Amino acid sequence: MLKNYLLFDIDGTLINTGGAGLRAMKSTVKSILGNENLLTGYSFAGKTDAQIMNDMIRRSGLDDKLEELSKLLSQTYIENLKTNLKNSDNFRTYPNVNALLDNYQKNETYELALLTGNFETGAKLKLEHAGLWKYFKWGIFGNLSEDRVHLAKNALEKITVKEKRVDTKKIFIIGDTTNDIRCGKAIGATTIAFTSGFEPEEKLRNCSPDFMVSDFGELYDIFNNNN
Ligand SMILES: [Mg+2]
Repeated sequence: MLKNYLLFDIDGTLINTGGAGLRAMKSTVKSILGNENLLTGYSFAGKTDAQIMNDMIRRSGLDDKLEELSKLLSQTYIENLKTNLKNSDNFRTYPNVNALLDNYQKNETYELALLTGNFETGAKLKLEHAGLWKYFKWGIFGNLSEDRVHLAKNALEKITVKEKRVDTKKIFIIGDTTNDIRCGKAIGATTIAFTSGFEPEEKLRNCSPDFMVSDFGELYDIFNNNN
């Protein structure tokens, strides 16, 4: 029997850091690039951490130092994220997430993994804070590329190496932004939009995800009926 792969986004899908991620990014940009306003009007939705940082460097006109600055930004961001997570009063896991992950982790026909724009260290910090890190067997993280579609292609490659035969419809991509849906479609996966409010429902609907849900409790029927 072919395995089902459940690939989850993190922010706005499993958890809401209560602004900790944004605050960490803001203070990082301010301390390294000297200008917090670079982030004004910038949309984070579905972007990889590498993309956000490189965009800020480009906005500062410091493209010639991209590699060096991007390394410095990511190191500083991780340190700032630690502090901000500790102090985030509004950090929360979305309802029914724990129960769903617990349920499918025990089922051998499902494999739980991450497909996220977060750097691996950032993803681990956020999910350990929520007690969710233990559920995921592997992950494709934002360190790999600025482009989420590349991340999805990497995930497909990884699954292809593991399996002799791959049915891409048995790869479920669950995320809260249009970028999650687009990257899922790029590899022929089953796409599920989770409407947590980071992006308007209308925008998500326009990307024609296979399913739209507003609660993790709705995912059981989708996973059980589509394999
Ligand atoms: Mg997200």
